[in-house]
Amino acid sequence: MNADLWKIFWNAIGWTGQFVFFSRFFVQWYATEKKKQVVVPSAFWWLSIIGSLLLLLYAVFYDKHYVVIFSYAFSWIPYIRNLIIHRRHKEAHLECPTCRLSCPPQSKFCSQCGTRLVGENVTR
Ligand SMILES: [Zn+2]
Repeated sequence: MNADLWKIFWNAIGWTGQFVFFSRFFVQWYATEKKKQVVVPSAFWWLSIIGSLLLLLYAVFYDKHYVVIFSYAFSWIPYIRNLIIHRRHKEAHLECPTCRLSCPPQSKFCSQCGTRLVGENVTR
């Protein structure tokens, strides 16, 4: 690959990484406005992982700037951790057998239709 193509390729990777990483704020903002409370959806953490990975690749293979490499080298750890916590919390929800609403963990009754959630008719 000649020098110009190499530069164009890595700049495309770097700018895509910047765009993906920055777009997560709009996703989080939208989710927060929609629920009228501060919400960090799992899409925020996925965009964080993808964006920081692209920026790490750009920094390692093209920019070779150690400050930039260091800033993205370990950021995936809390992103992965938050995705695991998101998944566990989602799995702990109880699905209403009547209306299929996903109710918060330890709910005794469905908030939508009032069906009792504890007992043998609970499906996960
Ligand atoms: Zn229900």
